[in-house]
Amino acid sequence: MHWKCEIIISECTGCGICADVCDYEAILMTQRMAYPEPTPGKCVGCNKCVEECPFAAIKVYELNSSLV
Ligand code: SF4
Ligand code: SF4
Repeated sequence: MHWKCEIIISECTGCGICADVCDYEAILMTQRMAYPEPTPGKCVGCNKCVEECPFAAIKVYELNSSLV
């Protein structure tokens, strides 16, 4: 299965919690970036970032494998 996480920029405050809680380096944040950046292909769909984001600014969904 393939998963994708997506940041909703209009809701995101750039707090970095999602990047901190992801155990798979699927969301990275550096000082250069105002917002977290999903790393394509790394998300395993654990939903931890969704649960921890205080602003409901992240979505995780399964990609249709026929499209990837
Ligand atoms: S936890 Fe939510 S608000 Fe904070 S950087 Fe991640 S997506 Fe943005
Ligand atoms: S769902 Fe899990 S693996 Fe995917 S970005 Fe969020 S915390 Fe990381």
